[in-house]
Amino acid sequence: MQATDFGNPNHVALLVQQIRAKTTRPWTIMEVCGGQTHAILRYGIDQLLPDSIRIVHGPGCPVCVTPIETIDQAIQIASTPGVIFCTFGDMLRVPGSDGDLMQAKSRGADVRIIHSPMEAYQLALAESNQTGSNRQVVLFAIGFETTAPATAMAIRMAKEKNLDCFSALVCHVLVPPALEAIFSDENHGIDGLLAAGHVCTITGYHSYDAICNRFGIPIAITGFEPVDLLRGIWNVVEQLESQPRNDRVVNVYEHIATIQGNAHAQQTVDEVFALCDQTWRGIGILPQSGLKLKEKYALYDAQKRFSIRSDRSTEASPCRAADVLRGKIRPVECPAFGSLCNPGNPLGAPMVSNEGACAAYYLYQSIKEDKSQDLEVDR
Ligand code: SF4
Repeated sequence: MQATDFGNPNHVALLVQQIRAKTTRPWTIMEVCGGQTHAILRYGIDQLLPDSIRIVHGPGCPVCVTPIETIDQAIQIASTPGVIFCTFGDMLRVPGSDGDLMQAKSRGADVRIIHSPMEAYQLALAESNQTGSNRQVVLFAIGFETTAPATAMAIRMAKEKNLDCFSALVCHVLVPPALEAIFSDENHGIDGLLAAGHVCTITGYHSYDAICNRFGIPIAITGFEPVDLLRGIWNVVEQLESQPRNDRVVNVYEHIATIQGNAHAQQTVDEVFALCDQTWRGIGILPQSGLKLKEKYALYDAQKRFSIRSDRSTEASPCRAADVLRGKIRPVECPAFGSLCNPGNPLGAPMVSNEGACAAYYLYQSIKEDKSQDLEVDR
Protein backbone atom coordinates (compact mmCIF):
# COMPACT_ATOMS: atom_id res chain seq x y z
CA MET A 1 0.00 0.00 0.00
CA GLN A 2 1.35 3.44 -0.92
CA ALA A 3 1.43 6.35 1.52
CA THR A 4 -1.41 8.10 -0.32
CA ASP A 5 -3.64 5.03 0.03
CA PHE A 6 -4.04 5.44 3.79
CA GLY A 7 -6.76 8.04 3.28
CA ASN A 8 -8.27 6.39 0.19
CA PRO A 9 -12.10 6.68 0.42
CA ASN A 10 -12.62 3.36 -1.37
CA HIS A 11 -10.43 1.52 1.14
CA VAL A 12 -12.23 3.31 3.96
CA ALA A 13 -15.67 2.37 2.60
CA LEU A 14 -14.66 -1.27 2.16
CA LEU A 15 -13.26 -1.56 5.69
CA VAL A 16 -16.33 0.10 7.20
CA GLN A 17 -18.52 -2.34 5.28
CA GLN A 18 -16.46 -5.31 6.52
CA ILE A 19 -16.60 -4.11 10.13
CA ARG A 20 -20.36 -3.57 9.95
CA ALA A 21 -20.92 -7.00 8.43
CA LYS A 22 -18.77 -8.72 11.07
CA THR A 23 -20.12 -7.01 14.18
CA THR A 24 -22.87 -8.92 15.97
CA ARG A 25 -22.49 -7.67 19.55
CA PRO A 26 -21.49 -4.52 21.47
CA TRP A 27 -17.73 -4.11 21.83
CA THR A 28 -15.67 -1.43 23.57
CA ILE A 29 -12.33 -0.71 21.95
CA MET A 30 -9.72 1.52 23.56
CA GLU A 31 -7.11 3.42 21.57
CA VAL A 32 -4.12 4.42 23.58
CA CYS A 33 -2.60 7.38 21.84
CA GLY A 34 -3.67 11.02 21.85
CA GLY A 35 -2.75 11.32 18.17
CA GLN A 36 -5.12 8.47 17.38
CA THR A 37 -7.87 10.07 19.48
CA HIS A 38 -7.62 13.22 17.39
CA ALA A 39 -7.45 11.29 14.12
CA ILE A 40 -10.57 9.26 15.01
CA LEU A 41 -12.53 12.41 15.77
CA ARG A 42 -11.07 14.51 12.95
CA TYR A 43 -11.96 11.92 10.31
CA GLY A 44 -15.26 11.01 11.98
CA ILE A 45 -14.24 7.36 12.18
CA ASP A 46 -16.30 6.83 15.34
CA GLN A 47 -19.38 7.94 13.36
CA LEU A 48 -18.70 5.48 10.53
CA LEU A 49 -18.68 2.49 12.88
CA PRO A 50 -21.79 0.56 13.87
CA ASP A 51 -23.46 1.93 17.02
CA SER A 52 -22.51 -1.24 18.86
CA ILE A 53 -18.79 -0.37 18.68
CA ARG A 54 -17.82 2.11 21.35
CA ILE A 55 -14.41 3.74 21.07
CA VAL A 56 -12.88 4.98 24.34
CA HIS A 57 -9.58 6.72 24.90
CA GLY A 58 -6.69 5.59 27.07
CA PRO A 59 -3.85 7.29 28.93
CA GLY A 60 -1.89 8.08 25.77
CA CYS A 61 -1.64 11.85 26.07
CA PRO A 62 1.74 12.62 27.69
CA VAL A 63 0.69 16.06 28.83
CA CYS A 64 -2.48 14.67 30.45
CA VAL A 65 -0.67 12.10 32.59
CA THR A 66 2.15 14.36 33.83
CA PRO A 67 1.40 14.58 37.57
CA ILE A 68 0.31 17.79 39.19
CA GLU A 69 3.35 17.80 41.52
CA THR A 70 5.67 17.74 38.49
CA ILE A 71 3.88 20.80 37.08
CA ASP A 72 4.39 22.45 40.48
CA GLN A 73 8.10 21.56 40.36
CA ALA A 74 8.36 22.93 36.83
CA ILE A 75 6.84 26.23 37.97
CA GLN A 76 9.25 26.37 40.93
CA ILE A 77 12.29 25.82 38.71
CA ALA A 78 11.06 28.16 35.96
CA SER A 79 10.53 30.88 38.56
CA THR A 80 14.13 30.63 39.81
CA PRO A 81 16.16 33.69 38.76
CA GLY A 82 18.69 32.88 36.03
CA VAL A 83 16.80 29.87 34.69
CA ILE A 84 15.76 29.45 31.06
CA PHE A 85 13.00 26.84 31.23
CA CYS A 86 12.39 24.96 27.96
CA THR A 87 9.09 23.18 27.44
CA PHE A 88 6.83 21.82 24.74
CA GLY A 89 4.08 24.37 24.06
CA ASP A 90 1.16 22.30 25.28
CA MET A 91 2.60 22.13 28.82
CA LEU A 92 2.13 25.88 29.29
CA ARG A 93 -1.54 25.80 30.22
CA VAL A 94 -1.61 22.53 32.18
CA PRO A 95 -2.89 23.39 35.64
CA GLY A 96 -0.68 22.73 38.65
CA SER A 97 -1.99 23.05 42.20
CA ASP A 98 -1.60 26.83 42.04
CA GLY A 99 -1.41 28.10 38.46
CA ASP A 100 0.45 27.05 35.34
CA LEU A 101 3.66 27.77 33.46
CA MET A 102 1.97 30.44 31.35
CA GLN A 103 1.18 32.39 34.52
CA ALA A 104 4.78 31.93 35.71
CA LYS A 105 5.91 33.32 32.34
CA SER A 106 3.58 36.31 32.71
CA ARG A 107 5.20 36.99 36.11
CA GLY A 108 8.61 37.19 34.43
CA ALA A 109 9.89 33.60 34.32
CA ASP A 110 11.98 32.90 31.21
CA VAL A 111 9.85 30.05 29.81
CA ARG A 112 10.61 29.14 26.20
CA ILE A 113 8.77 26.83 23.83
CA ILE A 114 10.83 24.16 22.13
CA HIS A 115 9.92 21.49 19.60
CA SER A 116 12.71 19.04 20.42
CA PRO A 117 14.99 18.35 23.43
CA MET A 118 17.96 19.10 21.17
CA GLU A 119 16.84 22.75 21.01
CA ALA A 120 17.32 22.99 24.78
CA TYR A 121 20.74 21.38 24.48
CA GLN A 122 21.73 23.82 21.71
CA LEU A 123 20.54 26.73 23.84
CA ALA A 124 22.64 25.51 26.77
CA LEU A 125 25.63 25.14 24.46
CA ALA A 126 25.19 28.74 23.29
CA GLU A 127 24.90 29.93 26.91
CA SER A 128 28.10 28.12 27.86
CA ASN A 129 29.93 29.90 25.03
CA GLN A 130 28.63 33.29 26.12
CA THR A 131 31.18 35.09 28.28
CA GLY A 132 29.85 36.00 31.72
CA SER A 133 26.59 34.06 31.40
CA ASN A 134 25.73 31.95 34.41
CA ARG A 135 22.22 31.10 33.32
CA GLN A 136 20.93 27.57 33.64
CA VAL A 137 18.94 25.89 30.84
CA VAL A 138 16.38 23.35 32.06
CA LEU A 139 14.57 20.93 29.76
CA PHE A 140 11.08 19.84 30.79
CA ALA A 141 11.43 16.27 29.54
CA ILE A 142 7.98 14.70 29.31
CA GLY A 143 6.42 12.09 27.08
CA PHE A 144 6.30 8.40 26.29
CA GLU A 145 8.81 6.00 24.76
CA THR A 146 8.72 8.10 21.60
CA THR A 147 10.33 11.22 23.08
CA ALA A 148 12.63 9.56 25.63
CA PRO A 149 15.39 8.76 23.08
CA ALA A 150 15.75 12.44 22.10
CA THR A 151 15.92 13.45 25.78
CA ALA A 152 18.52 10.75 26.41
CA MET A 153 20.58 11.95 23.47
CA ALA A 154 20.51 15.58 24.64
CA ILE A 155 21.64 14.55 28.14
CA ARG A 156 24.35 12.25 26.85
CA MET A 157 25.70 15.00 24.60
CA ALA A 158 25.64 17.47 27.50
CA LYS A 159 27.74 15.04 29.55
CA GLU A 160 30.17 14.52 26.68
CA LYS A 161 30.63 18.31 26.51
CA ASN A 162 30.77 18.74 30.32
CA LEU A 163 27.91 21.17 29.90
CA ASP A 164 27.13 22.12 33.48
CA CYS A 165 24.51 24.76 32.64
CA PHE A 166 22.11 22.09 31.35
CA SER A 167 19.72 19.82 33.24
CA ALA A 168 16.35 18.12 32.78
CA LEU A 169 13.20 17.76 34.84
CA VAL A 170 12.42 14.23 33.73
CA CYS A 171 8.91 12.79 33.61
CA HIS A 172 9.00 10.15 30.90
CA VAL A 173 6.40 7.38 31.18
CA LEU A 174 5.92 3.97 29.60
CA VAL A 175 2.72 2.68 28.00
CA PRO A 176 2.62 -1.07 28.89
CA PRO A 177 2.59 -0.62 32.71
CA ALA A 178 -0.31 1.84 32.40
CA LEU A 179 -2.27 -0.63 30.30
CA GLU A 180 -1.59 -3.37 32.83
CA ALA A 181 -2.93 -1.12 35.59
CA ILE A 182 -6.09 -0.36 33.62
CA PHE A 183 -6.75 -3.99 32.69
CA SER A 184 -6.05 -5.18 36.25
CA ASP A 185 -9.26 -3.45 37.29
CA GLU A 186 -11.81 -6.22 36.89
CA ASN A 187 -14.43 -3.64 35.89
CA HIS A 188 -12.32 -2.10 33.13
CA GLY A 189 -14.93 -2.88 30.46
CA ILE A 190 -12.46 -2.89 27.55
CA ASP A 191 -12.78 -5.67 24.95
CA GLY A 192 -9.99 -4.77 22.50
CA LEU A 193 -7.07 -2.40 22.14
CA LEU A 194 -5.51 -0.27 19.43
CA ALA A 195 -1.87 0.20 20.43
CA ALA A 196 0.17 3.15 19.23
CA GLY A 197 2.30 2.29 16.22
CA HIS A 198 4.85 5.05 16.75
CA VAL A 199 5.61 3.83 20.30
CA CYS A 200 6.14 0.32 18.91
CA THR A 201 8.42 1.75 16.24
CA ILE A 202 10.81 2.57 19.11
CA THR A 203 10.17 -0.24 21.57
CA GLY A 204 8.98 -3.03 19.29
CA TYR A 205 5.71 -4.73 20.17
CA HIS A 206 6.85 -7.93 21.91
CA SER A 207 5.72 -6.58 25.30
CA TYR A 208 2.11 -6.44 24.07
CA ASP A 209 2.00 -10.23 23.72
CA ALA A 210 2.14 -10.57 27.51
CA ILE A 211 -0.71 -8.04 27.94
CA CYS A 212 -2.82 -9.80 25.31
CA ASN A 213 -2.28 -13.23 26.89
CA ARG A 214 -2.65 -12.15 30.51
CA PHE A 215 -5.86 -10.14 30.06
CA GLY A 216 -7.41 -11.89 27.05
CA ILE A 217 -7.54 -8.70 25.00
CA PRO A 218 -6.91 -8.69 21.25
CA ILE A 219 -4.53 -5.93 20.23
CA ALA A 220 -3.83 -4.24 16.91
CA ILE A 221 -0.71 -2.10 16.49
CA THR A 222 -1.92 0.72 14.30
CA GLY A 223 -1.18 4.17 12.94
CA PHE A 224 -2.96 7.46 12.49
CA GLU A 225 -4.56 7.55 9.07
CA PRO A 226 -8.16 6.45 8.42
CA VAL A 227 -7.16 3.19 6.73
CA ASP A 228 -4.60 2.41 9.48
CA LEU A 229 -7.19 2.93 12.19
CA LEU A 230 -9.95 1.02 10.43
CA ARG A 231 -7.63 -1.89 9.68
CA GLY A 232 -6.80 -1.96 13.40
CA ILE A 233 -10.48 -1.89 14.38
CA TRP A 234 -11.29 -4.58 11.79
CA ASN A 235 -8.55 -6.85 13.16
CA VAL A 236 -9.75 -6.42 16.73
CA VAL A 237 -13.43 -6.98 15.83
CA GLU A 238 -12.53 -10.00 13.71
CA GLN A 239 -10.75 -11.55 16.72
CA LEU A 240 -13.54 -10.64 19.14
CA GLU A 241 -16.16 -12.24 16.90
CA SER A 242 -14.17 -15.45 16.33
CA GLN A 243 -15.26 -18.71 17.94
CA PRO A 244 -13.18 -20.07 19.53
CA ARG A 245 -11.31 -16.90 20.45
CA ASN A 246 -7.64 -16.77 19.56
CA ASP A 247 -6.56 -13.43 20.99
CA ARG A 248 -3.27 -12.17 19.61
CA VAL A 249 -1.30 -9.05 18.69
CA VAL A 250 -1.62 -8.07 15.03
CA ASN A 251 0.66 -5.45 13.53
CA VAL A 252 -1.20 -3.38 10.96
CA TYR A 253 1.48 -0.66 11.12
CA GLU A 254 3.79 -3.13 9.41
CA HIS A 255 5.19 -0.48 7.07
CA ILE A 256 6.95 1.14 10.07
CA ALA A 257 6.73 -0.87 13.32
CA THR A 258 8.65 -4.11 13.85
CA ILE A 259 8.61 -6.62 16.69
CA GLN A 260 12.12 -5.60 17.82
CA GLY A 261 11.77 -1.82 17.37
CA ASN A 262 14.65 0.60 16.98
CA ALA A 263 17.70 -0.91 18.68
CA HIS A 264 19.74 2.30 18.48
CA ALA A 265 17.02 4.34 20.21
CA GLN A 266 16.60 1.63 22.86
CA GLN A 267 20.36 1.59 23.57
CA THR A 268 20.41 5.39 23.92
CA VAL A 269 17.56 5.25 26.43
CA ASP A 270 19.18 2.37 28.36
CA GLU A 271 22.47 4.26 28.54
CA VAL A 272 20.90 7.28 30.28
CA PHE A 273 17.75 6.08 32.05
CA ALA A 274 16.70 3.43 34.56
CA LEU A 275 13.15 2.27 35.32
CA CYS A 276 11.37 3.82 38.30
CA ASP A 277 7.95 3.91 39.94
CA GLN A 278 6.05 6.86 38.54
CA THR A 279 2.94 8.84 39.43
CA TRP A 280 0.46 9.22 36.58
CA ARG A 281 -2.01 12.05 36.79
CA GLY A 282 -5.45 10.57 37.31
CA ILE A 283 -4.15 7.03 37.70
CA GLY A 284 -1.74 7.06 40.65
CA ILE A 285 1.64 5.48 41.25
CA LEU A 286 2.44 2.64 38.86
CA PRO A 287 5.45 0.41 39.56
CA GLN A 288 8.30 0.57 37.05
CA SER A 289 6.29 2.79 34.72
CA GLY A 290 8.66 5.74 34.41
CA LEU A 291 12.25 6.63 33.61
CA LYS A 292 14.77 8.30 35.91
CA LEU A 293 18.33 9.37 35.20
CA LYS A 294 20.99 6.81 36.03
CA GLU A 295 23.44 7.75 38.77
CA LYS A 296 26.21 8.62 36.31
CA TYR A 297 23.90 11.29 34.84
CA ALA A 298 22.66 12.58 38.21
CA LEU A 299 24.42 15.92 37.62
CA TYR A 300 21.83 16.59 34.93
CA ASP A 301 18.85 15.98 37.19
CA ALA A 302 17.09 19.33 37.66
CA GLN A 303 15.27 18.09 40.76
CA LYS A 304 18.63 17.58 42.48
CA ARG A 305 20.31 20.64 41.02
CA PHE A 306 17.56 22.99 42.22
CA SER A 307 16.78 21.09 45.44
CA ILE A 308 13.09 21.41 44.80
CA ARG A 309 10.34 19.96 46.91
CA SER A 310 8.24 17.15 45.51
CA ASP A 311 5.13 17.40 47.66
CA ARG A 312 2.21 15.19 46.64
CA SER A 313 -0.62 17.33 45.37
CA THR A 314 -4.24 16.48 44.75
CA GLU A 315 -6.74 17.69 42.18
CA ALA A 316 -9.26 20.10 43.69
CA SER A 317 -11.78 20.28 40.86
CA PRO A 318 -14.71 18.40 39.37
CA CYS A 319 -12.40 17.16 36.59
CA ARG A 320 -13.03 13.51 35.64
CA ALA A 321 -9.76 13.11 33.75
CA ALA A 322 -9.02 9.95 35.73
CA ASP A 323 -12.11 8.28 34.26
CA VAL A 324 -11.38 9.62 30.77
CA LEU A 325 -7.79 8.34 30.88
CA ARG A 326 -8.94 4.87 31.97
CA GLY A 327 -11.61 4.68 29.28
CA LYS A 328 -14.41 4.63 31.88
CA ILE A 329 -16.18 7.60 30.31
CA ARG A 330 -15.88 9.62 27.14
CA PRO A 331 -15.19 13.34 27.54
CA VAL A 332 -18.76 14.32 26.64
CA GLU A 333 -19.96 12.29 29.63
CA CYS A 334 -18.06 14.60 32.03
CA PRO A 335 -20.61 17.07 33.50
CA ALA A 336 -18.12 19.95 33.13
CA PHE A 337 -17.42 19.30 29.43
CA GLY A 338 -18.05 22.36 27.29
CA SER A 339 -19.57 24.38 30.13
CA LEU A 340 -17.33 24.80 33.18
CA CYS A 341 -14.45 23.28 31.22
CA ASN A 342 -13.43 24.41 27.75
CA PRO A 343 -10.13 25.28 26.05
CA GLY A 344 -10.37 28.87 27.32
CA ASN A 345 -10.87 27.65 30.88
CA PRO A 346 -9.49 24.12 31.13
CA LEU A 347 -10.16 22.34 34.42
CA GLY A 348 -7.96 19.40 33.50
CA ALA A 349 -5.01 18.54 31.31
CA PRO A 350 -7.07 16.58 28.71
CA MET A 351 -8.75 19.87 27.72
CA VAL A 352 -5.38 21.61 27.31
CA SER A 353 -3.15 19.39 25.29
CA ASN A 354 -3.11 19.06 21.52
CA GLU A 355 -3.35 15.33 22.22
CA GLY A 356 -5.97 15.50 24.98
CA ALA A 357 -9.21 13.60 24.45
CA CYS A 358 -11.39 16.38 25.89
CA ALA A 359 -9.78 18.98 23.61
CA ALA A 360 -10.36 16.67 20.62
CA TYR A 361 -14.05 16.24 21.40
CA TYR A 362 -14.45 19.97 21.99
CA LEU A 363 -12.66 20.91 18.76
CA TYR A 364 -14.24 18.41 16.39
CA GLN A 365 -17.70 18.51 17.94
CA SER A 366 -17.69 22.30 17.58
CA ILE A 367 -16.61 22.01 13.95
CA LYS A 368 -19.32 19.44 13.23
CA GLU A 369 -21.95 21.63 14.96
CA ASP A 370 -20.77 24.67 12.97
CA LYS A 371 -20.97 22.69 9.74
CA SER A 372 -24.45 21.37 10.49
CA GLN A 373 -25.60 24.92 11.29
CA ASP A 374 -24.12 26.08 7.97
CA LEU A 375 -26.00 23.31 6.18
CA GLU A 376 -29.25 24.34 7.86
CA VAL A 377 -28.66 27.96 6.75
CA ASP A 378 -27.84 26.76 3.20
CA ARG A 379 -31.04 24.76 3.08
S1 SF4 B 1 -13.98 17.90 30.20
FE1 SF4 B 1 -12.57 19.10 31.47
S2 SF4 B 1 -13.22 18.67 33.57
FE2 SF4 B 1 -14.09 17.05 32.29
S3 SF4 B 1 -12.56 15.40 32.28
FE3 SF4 B 1 -12.11 16.69 30.51
S4 SF4 B 1 -10.55 18.12 31.28
FE4 SF4 B 1 -11.54 17.24 33.09
